[in-house]
Amino acid sequence: MEEVKGSVPWKAEDGAITYAKIKGEYSARGLDVCHFCGLKFNVGERIPRIIVGCGHTFCTSCLSYFLRNNRIRCPMCRKLLKGVESVDKLPLNFNILYEVVTKDPLLSTVNFEKCLQADPDAY
Ligand SMILES: [Zn+2]
Ligand SMILES: [Zn+2]
Repeated sequence: MEEVKGSVPWKAEDGAITYAKIKGEYSARGLDVCHFCGLKFNVGERIPRIIVGCGHTFCTSCLSYFLRNNRIRCPMCRKLLKGVESVDKLPLNFNILYEVVTKDPLLSTVNFEKCLQADPDAY
């Protein structure tokens, strides 16, 4: 057994690696996972939504738990967002949602458009 000390073999051998690396980091950094409940976002009760005001994203299930008296306190940065009537009013994080749907062969069969049209008066 050879021991490799202190050297991380990060060689940018060709461009193809970069793409795979970015894709890999996307899940490695936990962007497709809600940072509060630790569960993966989905197109059901854990649709990723953005807390406008700080930009942090959590799943709808957690957000409805945070919602008290029309206010949401972001568990990440402690910022308070007022005037939130319901979590449905918070904008969806399309980047994550898209990633979730396209990555999962099961989810991609779900009528994505229909899900998004569920709250027509979001704005
Ligand atoms: Zn959550
Ligand atoms: Zn925040």
